[in-house]
Amino acid sequence: MRKQLYNVGAILKGLSITFRFMFAKRPTIEYPSVKKQHAPRFHGLHELRRYADGKERCIGCELCSSACPANAITVIGAENTPEDRKSPGERHAARYEIDELRCIFCGMCEEACPTDAIVLTPRFEMSDYKRGALIYSKDRLLVPADAGVGAAPDERPNGIPGDLGRVAEIKSTTDIERGYSATNRGEILKKQTRGLAILPPQREDV
Ligand code: SF4
Ligand code: SF4
Repeated sequence: MRKQLYNVGAILKGLSITFRFMFAKRPTIEYPSVKKQHAPRFHGLHELRRYADGKERCIGCELCSSACPANAITVIGAENTPEDRKSPGERHAARYEIDELRCIFCGMCEEACPTDAIVLTPRFEMSDYKRGALIYSKDRLLVPADAGVGAAPDERPNGIPGDLGRVAEIKSTTDIERGYSATNRGEILKKQTRGLAILPPQREDV
């Protein structure tokens, strides 16, 4: 009889734990319709930025490619022409590719870039069936022409813009309050039809 009472007690104790968790706040979120706030310095997928006048920040200097420890970046520069000026400098990136599978998201490319053209955003969704599909070229990296940020630079020799320093304030990865939605592509995703909801900032997670 004592043994049976002991077993009943053990079962009730086990069930009490189950019931307790039934009413506890769930730690899971309904991804992908709800996204979690990232840590402020989270390093996600890359973005190639523009100036407010639509010109590309990238001047094809290849410094990011040289700094990349994973050898993930390919840049082939080309000369700008008066008829077709893509960047404020003499050159622009005719071809720019990042192999996101090789990338270790260290941010060295971002640090090396003299024009703050390449930045790591809080975006992290990346999947495909083929490895080649995860080599991001300019058409996936470059923000749309009407999505430039920062003051338009003076036309200077060598393409070095006048607003270095200010870009750090507006760099997408440093906006803690707006997090994921701070990037241009984050804004686009918010407007898409699937009703992506952004969780309010959770300071304890930051
Ligand atoms: S984040 Fe690091 S590994 Fe990735 S492309 Fe930039 S430099 Fe290379
Ligand atoms: S992203 Fe920056 S470092 Fe890389 S080629 Fe363009 S301007 Fe140079």
